[in-house]
Amino acid sequence: MPMFQPELETLPRPKLTELQNQRLREQVAYVYERVPFYRQALDEKGLKPSDIRGVEDLHKLPFTKKKDLRDTYPFGMFAVPRQELARIHASSGTTGKPTVVGYTKGDLEIFAEVVARSLAAAGGRPGMMLHNAYGYGLFTGGLGLHGGAEKLGMVVVPISGGMTDRQIMLIQDFKPEMIACTPSYAQTLAEEFKKRGITPEEISLQYAILGAEPWTEAIRQSVDEGLGVRATNIYGLSEIIGPGVSNEDVNEREGLSYIWEDHFYPEVVDPETGDPLPDGEVGVLVFTTLTKKAMPILRYWTGDLTYITREPGPSGRTHARMAQIRGRTDDMLIVRGVNVYPTQIEAVLKEIPEVVPHYQIVLTREGPMDELELKLEVAEPFFREIGQKVLSDEVIEADQRLAHLREKVARKIKDNVGLSVKVSLINPGTAPRSEGGKLKRVADLRKLR
Ligand code: ADP
Repeated sequence: MPMFQPELETLPRPKLTELQNQRLREQVAYVYERVPFYRQALDEKGLKPSDIRGVEDLHKLPFTKKKDLRDTYPFGMFAVPRQELARIHASSGTTGKPTVVGYTKGDLEIFAEVVARSLAAAGGRPGMMLHNAYGYGLFTGGLGLHGGAEKLGMVVVPISGGMTDRQIMLIQDFKPEMIACTPSYAQTLAEEFKKRGITPEEISLQYAILGAEPWTEAIRQSVDEGLGVRATNIYGLSEIIGPGVSNEDVNEREGLSYIWEDHFYPEVVDPETGDPLPDGEVGVLVFTTLTKKAMPILRYWTGDLTYITREPGPSGRTHARMAQIRGRTDDMLIVRGVNVYPTQIEAVLKEIPEVVPHYQIVLTREGPMDELELKLEVAEPFFREIGQKVLSDEVIEADQRLAHLREKVARKIKDNVGLSVKVSLINPGTAPRSEGGKLKRVADLRKLR
C-alpha cells in the first residue's frame, strides 16, 4: 500500500531517534521560554532545558495531566499570542469546562499530514471519496479527518454525525469508497442498511477508518461484514493533536497502530508509580509533542491503557506501534474488588455466534454487593431460530437453548475476566445505539444511591 510520506514513515530507527532528540531539545527550550506552567515545572525539579538532551532524558520531566489543562483554562497552556492561532478545538468535557486546545497554521499543516498518513494507511487514495461522519465542531474528529483527506487528495463529503436516514441516502447516491466515523456509529449504519434490505455487496464502501472510542475485534467483524469494508483503527486525542496520532495499516489489521513518532513521542508508564515500562508491557500511554507550536505538551498522561512495540511492522514503516486501547483508566469498573474494562467483556463476544456486540453494562448495588448485568442482544439468525420471542427471564428459563446461551456467555466472561456477571439476553435492536458520536455503553447506577 502506498504511503503518504514514505521517506518519513520508513525512516531508519537511528535517524528517527536523532530527529526526535533534536526536536525534543527544541520543544523543551521553546516551552520553557513561552509557557509559565512549564518554566515553573522545570524550575521546581531543578532542571534546565539543556538537561534534556534527548528522549532518554524525558523521564526526568514531570507529567502534564488533564487537571493542569483545566487549571489553566482556557488558554493558559498556549505558547503563542492569540493572533498567531489559526483554530481552537475543545474536548467534550462531560462535566464542567471543556479542555481547550489551539493550533497555529503550521500545527494545522502537521495535523493534516498525520491524518493523511493515517488515511493512506487505512486504504485511502487520492481521488477516492470519503464520507466523513465524524462530528464537525469543537470535537477534533470532523475537521481533523477533513483536513487530512483534502491533503491526501480525496473528495470529502462533510456530512458530520447524526441524521442517519440522510447518511444512508447519500452513501447510496454518492457511492463513496471510504467512511470515517466512530465504530459504534458504523455499527448503526450497518444495521440501518440491513433494515432497508441493502446488502453489503450493494454498498460502495470498501474502507472504514474508525476511532474516538475503544472497540474490539468483535465490533470490527460486525462492521466489516455489515458494511462490506476493511475497517482500521485511528487513534488520537485533542490534547496531542486530535485523530491521527496513530493508525493501523489496512493490510495488517492485527490491532497494532503506527504512531507518527516524528511528531508524537510515546512512552508507556506504570499507572501507579509513573515509572517507564519496557515495550510490550501494558500501562498508561504518555505523549510528548515534538513539533507543535500553539500548545506543545510534555509527557501528557492520556489515561489510555495499552502497550507499544518497536518491532518494525510488515508494512515497512519503522515507527512504533501501539496495541488497541483497553480503555481509559477512568473507564475501569471495580466490581466486587475485580478490575474490569468493558472492552474485556466485549472481546469475549467475538467467540459466541449467537450474540452480537450490541450491549449495555449496568452496575447496581444491593446492600454491600455490586452487581454487573450484561444486557446482550442475540443475533438475528438465532433469534429467528428460537421463534422470535420477546426475551424475558421467564422465556429464557423455559427455553433450554436460551438458558444454555446465557450460561455460556457468563462462563466465558468468568473464565476470561474473572468476574461473575448476570447475563440478560435481549431482543435484537434494543441495546443503546450511537446516533453519530461516541457511545456510552456503561450505566453505573451505584453512584445514584
Ligand atoms: P474527549 O475527551 O471529549 O473524549 P477526545 O476526542 O480528545 O475528547 O478523546 C480522546 C480519547 O478518546 C482518547 O484519549 C481515548 O480515550 C479515546 N480514543 C480515541 N481514539 C480511540 C481509539 N481508536 N481507540 C480507543 N480509544 C480511543
